[in-house]
Amino acid sequence: MVNRCVVFGCSNEPKKGVTLHEFPSGKRERDTWTRFVKRTRKNWDGPTSNTRICSEHFSSDLFENKMKFDLGHAKILRLHKHAVPTIYPTGTCKTGRNDGASVDAPSMTSAMRKREALQVITNFM
Ligand SMILES: [Zn+2]
Repeated sequence: MVNRCVVFGCSNEPKKGVTLHEFPSGKRERDTWTRFVKRTRKNWDGPTSNTRICSEHFSSDLFENKMKFDLGHAKILRLHKHAVPTIYPTGTCKTGRNDGASVDAPSMTSAMRKREALQVITNFM
C-alpha cells in the first residue's frame, strides 16, 4: 500500500522532491501535527502508525539536510527533531470549510509562517 499525505486537499504520494514523514513520537509535537491536520479535516480521528504528512507542509529550514537532498546527495529528507507543519495546501480555502473558522493560515506570508514555526520550536527547547 502506498502511503499518502493525510492533509486534506493534498494527498501527495512520495515522488521527486516530495517525501512523506511519520508523526513524531513526542507528545507535544504529535499534538501539534494532529492539530494541523484537524484544521483541514474536521472529523479526523488522529494519527495511526501509517499516517504521514508530506514535506510540502514544512518550510525548508525545518529540514536537517534539505540542501543535500536537493542536490541528490541524500535519499531521505530528514526533518528537524522539533519540526512542525505550518504550510497548508493551496486551494484548501476553496474546497474546504467555508464557515470562516480558523482558516487563517493560507493567507499568512511565508515569513510569518517561518516565524510561527520557529516560535514553536523555541517553545519546545
Ligand atoms: Zn501533503
